[in-house]
Amino acid sequence: MLCIANTARGDERFPPAKFGKILAIPVGRAPIGDRYVAFVFPTSTTETSAPHPPACEPLPPRRFLGNRYVYCVLSQRAGGLSIGINLNPDQHCNFDCVYCEIDRSARPKHRRLHIPRMIAELESMLGLVHSGRFEELGYSAAPELLPFKEVALSGDGEPTLCPEFRQAVEAIVHLRARHRFPFFKIVLITNTTGLPLPEVRKGIELLAAEDEIWAKLDAGTQEYMDIVNRPNISIEDVMENILSVARRRPVIIQSLIPLINGREPPDDEILELAARLRELREDGAKIPLVQIYSAHRPAMDATCAHLPLRSLSRIAKTIRKVSGLSAEVF
Ligand code: SF4
Repeated sequence: MLCIANTARGDERFPPAKFGKILAIPVGRAPIGDRYVAFVFPTSTTETSAPHPPACEPLPPRRFLGNRYVYCVLSQRAGGLSIGINLNPDQHCNFDCVYCEIDRSARPKHRRLHIPRMIAELESMLGLVHSGRFEELGYSAAPELLPFKEVALSGDGEPTLCPEFRQAVEAIVHLRARHRFPFFKIVLITNTTGLPLPEVRKGIELLAAEDEIWAKLDAGTQEYMDIVNRPNISIEDVMENILSVARRRPVIIQSLIPLINGREPPDDEILELAARLRELREDGAKIPLVQIYSAHRPAMDATCAHLPLRSLSRIAKTIRKVSGLSAEVF
């Protein structure tokens, strides 16, 4: 059985015993409040046999299918299937977010990005996605419920710190220009650190108008950023980095708000975050959307958990009101 419904996470109208596993996927702007589309999978799968589901169902993990760099994920914020490219096989990141899922305890086997291999993997994954062979991707849902949305530059670290960033973007753009596959959108998901670097700027200049940049801003104060992101740059640098791009092309802001040690962020902090967003807008940043969400998959840090949907909705409301920007909950 497969059905689709509007629901909040853990909606009692869709008990797993009857409907199977529920994965929440956002659907654009909702007319009333913040709501989700749920993908409901057959009750016969082993994942649905637990008598009591966790309060927050984690999304399925990345599917690498034997690849080194290219994976597939069902993405809430993309609204469907996203092909991810790990530009940081060395797991390098200058943030240490409390919600990060990457296990950096072991040294990765392959630490350099090999661009020809990455492109070969991407071609193969695009072929699989466009052929609709979703069982091979590990998803048991009808193709119309798994729309292919994007190729995301992301992965195990900060993509703009990848030494071959420009060359990687160039190779992906060339693959797209060969028209072997229908046009695909490229999305750069970044913590903003490398955006001012000359080679990163050159890479971004290769992107088309349809491509997107999603930039992280989780805090409004340095104090809170040091708790959530533990970065080696300042919040002022992050603001400047966002502005350096967002004055030239639209940038979607991603604000991940976790529960830390069972505590929600203070109301003052949300007001500071909203004020930072307003400042960006007033300084000329083109920000079509602020994505508000929480930690969906288990983090390496056990103190971090998912914020309830009602809290995320309240935060989004504050951000809309104070910043004057569009904000959606995912
Ligand atoms: S910026 Fe991304 S990769 Fe880096 S620590 Fe944060 S969540 Fe992990």
